[in-house]
Amino acid sequence: MSRLTLSSPLSGWSAPLDEAPDAVFAQKMLGDGVLIDPTGNQLVAPCDGEVVSIAASHHAIAVRATNGAEILLHVGIDTVALAGKGFELHVAPGAKVCKGDRLLTFDLALLAREATSLVTPVIVTNGDRFEIVRAHTDCELMAGDALLEIQPLAGADAKQATAEAERVSEKIRVDHEHGIHARPAALIANYAKALPFDLEVIANGRSANPRSAVALMSLGIRGGDEIIVAASGAEGAAAIAEVRRLIHGLEGPGPAKAKHAEIRPIAAASAPTDPSRIKGVIASRGLAIGTAFYLREAEIAVVEAGAGVAHESAELERARGEVRQRLQALAKEAAATAREIITAHLEFVDDWELVAAARRSIAHGKSAAFSWRRAVRDSADALKALGDPRIAERVDDLLDLERQVLVALLGQTPTTQIEIPDRAVILAEDLKPSQFVSLDARKLAGICLAAGGPTSHVSILAAAVGVPTLVAAGPAVLGIEDGTALILDTEQGVLRVAPDQGELASAERTIAARRQRQSAERSAAQNLCRTADGKRIEVFANLGSLGEATHAVAQGAEGCGLLRTEFLFLEREQAPDEREQLRRYQEIADALAGRPLIIRTLDIGGDKPIPYLPLPAEENPALGLRGIRTSLWQPDLLRVQLRALLQVQPAGQCRVLLPMITDVAEVRIVRKLIDEIRRELGITTTLQVGAMIETPASAAIADQIAREVDFFSIGTNDLTQYTLAMDRGHADLAARIDALHPAVLRLIAMTAEAGARHNRLVAMCGGLASDPAAVPVLLGLGLTELSVVPSMIPQLKHLIGHLTLDACRPLAQRALAQESAEAVRSLLAETSNELKVAL
Ligand code: PEP
Ligand code: MG
Repeated sequence: MSRLTLSSPLSGWSAPLDEAPDAVFAQKMLGDGVLIDPTGNQLVAPCDGEVVSIAASHHAIAVRATNGAEILLHVGIDTVALAGKGFELHVAPGAKVCKGDRLLTFDLALLAREATSLVTPVIVTNGDRFEIVRAHTDCELMAGDALLEIQPLAGADAKQATAEAERVSEKIRVDHEHGIHARPAALIANYAKALPFDLEVIANGRSANPRSAVALMSLGIRGGDEIIVAASGAEGAAAIAEVRRLIHGLEGPGPAKAKHAEIRPIAAASAPTDPSRIKGVIASRGLAIGTAFYLREAEIAVVEAGAGVAHESAELERARGEVRQRLQALAKEAAATAREIITAHLEFVDDWELVAAARRSIAHGKSAAFSWRRAVRDSADALKALGDPRIAERVDDLLDLERQVLVALLGQTPTTQIEIPDRAVILAEDLKPSQFVSLDARKLAGICLAAGGPTSHVSILAAAVGVPTLVAAGPAVLGIEDGTALILDTEQGVLRVAPDQGELASAERTIAARRQRQSAERSAAQNLCRTADGKRIEVFANLGSLGEATHAVAQGAEGCGLLRTEFLFLEREQAPDEREQLRRYQEIADALAGRPLIIRTLDIGGDKPIPYLPLPAEENPALGLRGIRTSLWQPDLLRVQLRALLQVQPAGQCRVLLPMITDVAEVRIVRKLIDEIRRELGITTTLQVGAMIETPASAAIADQIAREVDFFSIGTNDLTQYTLAMDRGHADLAARIDALHPAVLRLIAMTAEAGARHNRLVAMCGGLASDPAAVPVLLGLGLTELSVVPSMIPQLKHLIGHLTLDACRPLAQRALAQESAEAVRSLLAETSNELKVAL
């Protein structure tokens, strides 16, 4: 390697990089370089070399010079938002170019109109190997004039020669719809952190060390992008292969998407024509009356100067340690949704790049608080600049974490509660998850945010606890005065400002009627459930955590009909051992205080990937390794799980449920394994074994399967997707993927008949069981156990208590004869009042 002169890729005025109107460039987060304020519209190669990457939106090109220096040419600021408009490429990735070759032509006038700025950073991105020894700045240059002189850093030559000789890289296509956003970035960072050497990910003309989830996210990798993953040596090749597996195994729409579907916007935010009716996007449904309370959070003041590098470094470690410990403790108790959010915060608190940036600033004499804030804000700005709404939503999490660490650093007690007035409708630009959990739930009527998204963590948390929430309602929200009366109608997606007496009275009546009904239902929910004509129907809860078990018992759950064990270990990188599994199952069994606990064996694959068991890349994961197939593919995992659940005390409280059964052989293999383990452990009590009926195949041969199992549990979420051939997470098909479709009902009927013929209990744990409209049909078809969302238990028990099987049976037959799900729903709506008997 030798000294190299880079020529100007553009005609224009050159200026120092720190004058860039964007902190990401000005603070040299991507490397050192200069700016060109272009007067021409041609971008040419600054040296001989190879085009190593081109941003999907064509605004940035990276060239690797023959001496190994990597030069990023980024035309304008915020030009990613133009999505390629105004750019014409003349080269492709991999092209060999000579100094002065045309790379790109752009529409100067359009960029001047639509981009934040035209200034074009020219950056040496591998500053660990090269330094700029001369820069021609503050002068007018023509394309091709000398711009930068760069030379290798001392010692970098030899090191690089070895590294380059051993360097391996692979192009990987990211097929995951949402690209590499927070969760996948965290997954890859977790893996990269454990390696004794560095990996490099190159995308969109930039490169990042994937040890840092934040750095990875800031590459803005979208679904369909091709990225390069590079490392050195044979171990490097194996690590790249692992990253490929992680990327190919990324979550599909999955549970996260299902959650999003529940809170999918029904009304896009629009400029309000009537200032007393502000429209927004629905994040959590409901109706609330309250008074406006604008949530302002005072910025924590920090002192810039540090009290010595050693002291400030130790302080930062201490504060991060405190936050980490608190988050770990919270994660243990949290329900699945909240745990996901806490896990993201945990990942950020140890983010390699954030911590390194803060340490660099401390080394320059700044305080730990100042350095942490600056590191977080720079990363947040870089993420916001990507213009990707999913990633922009994660910026809230970063800023939230900034505050948590500052609170620990400054010795303040973390906010446990934010004071709000009674019946407060919280108005804010946006909310952080920690602010949400600090709001006094007893006083909180609803939330209306000017910004935010329906998939943000705050929206998910609000939906999980049923707080009516509207997001993306626009700046009009911020103009409402504190104390103004409000009706927040998140069934319709409207905030009514200063409603008149008539509107208030009518909303009051609706809310009062709902409350009365709910409280009566809750107090009766501890009784065992029977129909009005005396048939015992078990109402169980679907669970995914210990916290949910406790809540479910309070709601009147008579047992757990489905413990989704994969949710207990979602965040794990290593498979939980027998002891840990036994401990987690036993805790839940204890929380259920003797009530039955149906534990489903791991249902991994498809829309539920799990970090500790990367699956081979599959063309169509929903039709690949899933449920029992995955367990039989990895029988050791299944054995450990069965050993754990067989030891839960008291014996007999637990039953086992097998997911995605398609034939009797699968059941027989598992039964044989259970018998073997019982012998090994000297267990004499039998374990009841059930099959999930969630494939059309298992419904069709339910009579055969019935001979092999003790009970059935129908999983309508999968049964519907496989029967209708519609992805259960497909947002555009969401309205059509209805489990009340007669085809699905007929499969349920076949299963119920087979169960009855063989005297097997037939339960349902799929989402249809939680739908009050469907319950009369399910009872009419012969189901005797419903396992449902815990918060629905009181309402469903109340409903069942007012139904008779005599009325439900003919109704079920009529439903089976309908021609569409809509026709079934109309029939149920028409007959719902006649069905119920007064008690
Ligand atoms: C189902 O498919 O209905 C079911 C209960 O299983 P899961 O939703 O966990 O796939
Ligand atoms: Mg299922």
